[in-house]
Amino acid sequence: MNKKGKVYLVGAGPGSADLITVRGAELLKTADCVIYDKLANPTLLKFARSAAELIHVPKRIGPGSATQDQINNLLVEKAKLGLTVVRLKGGDPGIFGRIGEELSALKEAGVDFEIVPGVTAAVAAAESAGIILTDRDYSSQVIFVTGQEAEGKQKSSIDWELLAKFKGTIVFYMAMENLELIAERLIKNGMAEGTSVAVIADATLPSQRTVRASLKRITEKCEENKIEPPAIVVIGAAADDKLNWLICKPLFGKTIVITRDAESNVDFAAKIIAKAGSPVEFATIKIKPLTQTNIFLQTLAKFPEYDWLIFTSANGVTILFDALQTLGKDARVFASAKIAAIGSETAAKLQQFGIKADFTPNIFTSKELGKQLIASANLKGKRVLLLRSQLASDELSELLKIAGAEVDNVPIYTAVTVKNEPGLLIEKIKKGEIDWLTFTSPSSVKAFFEQIPAELVNSSSVKIASIGPVTSEQLKTLGLKVDAEAAEHIADGLLAAIEKMY
Ligand code: SAH
Repeated sequence: MNKKGKVYLVGAGPGSADLITVRGAELLKTADCVIYDKLANPTLLKFARSAAELIHVPKRIGPGSATQDQINNLLVEKAKLGLTVVRLKGGDPGIFGRIGEELSALKEAGVDFEIVPGVTAAVAAAESAGIILTDRDYSSQVIFVTGQEAEGKQKSSIDWELLAKFKGTIVFYMAMENLELIAERLIKNGMAEGTSVAVIADATLPSQRTVRASLKRITEKCEENKIEPPAIVVIGAAADDKLNWLICKPLFGKTIVITRDAESNVDFAAKIIAKAGSPVEFATIKIKPLTQTNIFLQTLAKFPEYDWLIFTSANGVTILFDALQTLGKDARVFASAKIAAIGSETAAKLQQFGIKADFTPNIFTSKELGKQLIASANLKGKRVLLLRSQLASDELSELLKIAGAEVDNVPIYTAVTVKNEPGLLIEKIKKGEIDWLTFTSPSSVKAFFEQIPAELVNSSSVKIASIGPVTSEQLKTLGLKVDAEAAEHIADGLLAAIEKMY
């Protein structure tokens, strides 16, 4: 008999890919088939085996809808083929996850299943905004409510009277469409207009945003700030700003625009959120690998002939290893060549792939890398390969050549400009809602100011932070002033420079 199929209904967590449970991640790694919907972070799919079938199912329209029936049938069909199926759902599968119908279909068809819990949005959103849902002083009870019922339904199954006088914390899911109606009903049933409310959108993602106001003003405030679903609404004393435990964090209340490429922005945003700042994503560049070029492929075959391979960014490392994986190769291509990294981020990225950098300077710039490498190793007659961005300057290769090295420069990626819709950011700058713009490369400076006028920034209260001298130079060339420059030229150093200003 064939292997017996099984369906795992797995909670994907609220947004950030690392908030899935260990069990959930392990199951994803073994699944034959992954069926996922909109709220599950697509980054999680990277856990899946390359042979696994990945099926995206669109947002469901309602109970008994064609789409839901199709999903039910799909689950049964795949399990009956003997496959291990992971049905990946946002947050926790059992909280407003409408798994009832999927479970009935599985039960009816005699398919084995298991539910793997996940971190639900209410808890994740509250905590990442500094809100603790229960506290012995102000809230001994919590209610989770759906906000999608408020409208239209003839007889609501929500007890508005009870909610209005509830002494505890109320958390609404799916409430953005009906927020005004919800507030009205609560007030009509006797809840004080001044009750504290916090709305957290895109919780745990780089785009996370929090808006706070009284029950009476919250809808207006969300509209002003263009808050869109998915969002969680927390009502009650817990949402009072005075109880916000993030207040003591270094970047609390600071809104910081991040302009790296989308992938690096994810890590950068996480660092800002950890310090309680609010990142605003404005990716200016996209990293484009150049690892399919003949020159790269020919050079790759000759890696062992080099004495030194030099990486000047974490992106370069990731791109090289992606290329190796595609080509069915691994770190052995380096043979006995020594490896230098420009700084701690690049060295840490190499470490992720099991490579320990032989050399890292103590100041993370190309110039220092060149100077210090020359001082510590005799490069005369040595062959050196630079694996860098096509846009990198000649300074490093010139220094190495002067020291007698034979230098090959093989660009493994380039950065292309990404066009954004700048309207919202322009408006925020005008309204004084942005505290900092951050830049980590000259190319992102150029791309940013092609979209946002430099004069606007100069005439506003916005401050500018740069990762190092080369990026600062580019800013100055465009007539901008640099308010903070990182002493250590990595993302952490940039944030440290901002913190120092307060
Ligand atoms: N099963 C999910 C909830 C599904 S209902 C869970 O346990 O979290 C969908 C609602 O969840 C959205 O309308 C929103 O209210 C909430 N939600 C999901 N992800 C969210 C996020 N990252 N930030 C804020 N709210 C989120």
